[in-house]
Amino acid sequence: MAKILLIEDEQALRQALQDALEYHGYSVITSADGVSGLNLAENENPDLVILDVMLPGLDGFEVCTRLRASGFRSPVLILTARSEEVDRVVGLELGADDYIVKPFSTRELMARVKAHLRRSSNLASSSPSRCSFGDVVVDFPGSTVTRGGKAIPLTSTELTILRLLVERKDEVVSRDQILNVVWGYESLPESRAVDTHIVNLRHKLEPNPGKPKYIITIHGLGYKFIG
Ligand code: CA
Repeated sequence: MAKILLIEDEQALRQALQDALEYHGYSVITSADGVSGLNLAENENPDLVILDVMLPGLDGFEVCTRLRASGFRSPVLILTARSEEVDRVVGLELGADDYIVKPFSTRELMARVKAHLRRSSNLASSSPSRCSFGDVVVDFPGSTVTRGGKAIPLTSTELTILRLLVERKDEVVSRDQILNVVWGYESLPESRAVDTHIVNLRHKLEPNPGKPKYIITIHGLGYKFIG
């Protein structure tokens, strides 16, 4: 049974989401603020985190940043009440895998939770191989990446995108194909989300992220991995 950590300060919403998640067979732990949420994530190692942005004390962005800095790799879905795109992009830049804008339907949330859990368990179990380029070594089955011998923590979304590009080395992979493989559900986030994850990957793996050598943009078409 997958374990989900829900960090949401609004009591009624927290309870409703907990009930819905439990009804769908997930084990749920909850927190009403960022600090205790972080502690729970570190001690309980959940399979997925649902994280509200507007929290007392430590906000969701800060929680996400600290989680990723500590090497936490499970999917993080952020809940944002604001519809401004800046929030969504900031969340993705800080290492969240996806965002959901409030108000959302339980059905939509469940579809995303399911898609992210399936993807991250596929990544752990059936990944094909290792690859290396430059001073980067990627071990897909072990979900580890090193650069110059130093461990580079990639989120599960970043690893999935990298694996897709590597599997299709020297071919153009479109944003839609990436969206489909990575998110794999009907209500897709805009392709901007793909671009943000690509930027993050370049910062982690490219010698000069502004002039990428390995993860190339093919204008109007998508991305191509050259290894
Ligand atoms: Ca809130």
